[in-house]
Amino acid sequence: MKIVRIEAYQVDLPYSGGTYRLSGGRTYQSFDATFVRVVTDCGLDGWGESTPFGNNYIAAHARGVRAGLEDLVPALLGADPRLCDRINDQMDFALLGHHHTKAPLDIACWDIFGKSTGLPVCDLLGGRIAGPVPVISSIGSDTPEAMRASVARHRALGFMGHSIKVGATEAEGGPMIDAERIRACLADRQAGEWFLADANNGMSPEQALRLLALLPDGLDFVLEAPCPSWRETLSLRQRCSVPLLLDELIQTEEDLVHAIQTDACDGVGLKITKQGGLTRTRRQREIARAGGLVTSVQDTTGSEIAFAAILHMAQSTPRHMLRHALDPRAMVTCSTATFEAPLVNGGAEAPNLPGLGITPDLEVMGDPVAVWQ
Ligand SMILES: [Mg+2]
Repeated sequence: MKIVRIEAYQVDLPYSGGTYRLSGGRTYQSFDATFVRVVTDCGLDGWGESTPFGNNYIAAHARGVRAGLEDLVPALLGADPRLCDRINDQMDFALLGHHHTKAPLDIACWDIFGKSTGLPVCDLLGGRIAGPVPVISSIGSDTPEAMRASVARHRALGFMGHSIKVGATEAEGGPMIDAERIRACLADRQAGEWFLADANNGMSPEQALRLLALLPDGLDFVLEAPCPSWRETLSLRQRCSVPLLLDELIQTEEDLVHAIQTDACDGVGLKITKQGGLTRTRRQREIARAGGLVTSVQDTTGSEIAFAAILHMAQSTPRHMLRHALDPRAMVTCSTATFEAPLVNGGAEAPNLPGLGITPDLEVMGDPVAVWQ
């Protein structure tokens, strides 16, 4: 089997809540998504998505995805898409880094691999673990009461995990408002619920320590991605008693090994495009497992095709190490594909269909922005 044609598509995905507020005063109204379709000489095709979370979230930007494809595609035309590690070797030889550009090509190859075997991608990633995967809510920064109400709305829908965005600038209220946000969101905590306070690398150790000092003892939550650098994170790690989960700092296998070696964290957020696609996320999942880290399977954001990749990875991740998956469909107003994985009681299960199990909506995709063959 050979790749004979690759197409790229661009779609804007408006944020469903108007304005998404993140630490450091960052705001987002819409996300620029790139989709790739990989076509083979036997007629099978596969799809992948890469939707960065704006230009200032991590070093990944939407126009860079499309520019990078120009450099990667020549390395893949003629290659066998089922040999996913070899596909990644060829992409790495053509272009160093740029995980978010490689990811949609890698995901599309797994979609083809699944279709060619008749198996869902989760089975190829190690095997389905039956039952719905718990999905986490995403509670954007707001007033403490608005965030508490948002947690309550998600609780009513069956969500058991809640990701609360913190990391206010000093002008927005700093550690004081963040402490109020955490207290408000945990005020109605139910048995079995799990809370993350996610600063998305937006705090200094000084701010994080002030925040923790303002909280009462006994609050059950994990602090996620407090600081932007390894030095700051390790400094905070030595001086705080709450569990830490790292996300944006861990993008490569080497990052994860470094985190384990330095005992920097207790968990890791694996985002499919941030880690470089399903092949690399699978490698990192196994390293995290060996290191005893709990794992959250997510993506920067996206639509149905991004969620399909997330869900197949999460569906094949041992439950004792899987905290949750993120369902980015709730974050955007635009639907790009049919994907039969409804959210029921805060959980979703990957469909038992070959490949990713998605049917892209070609009207929403529009005309390709680039075609290579
Ligand atoms: Mg995070």
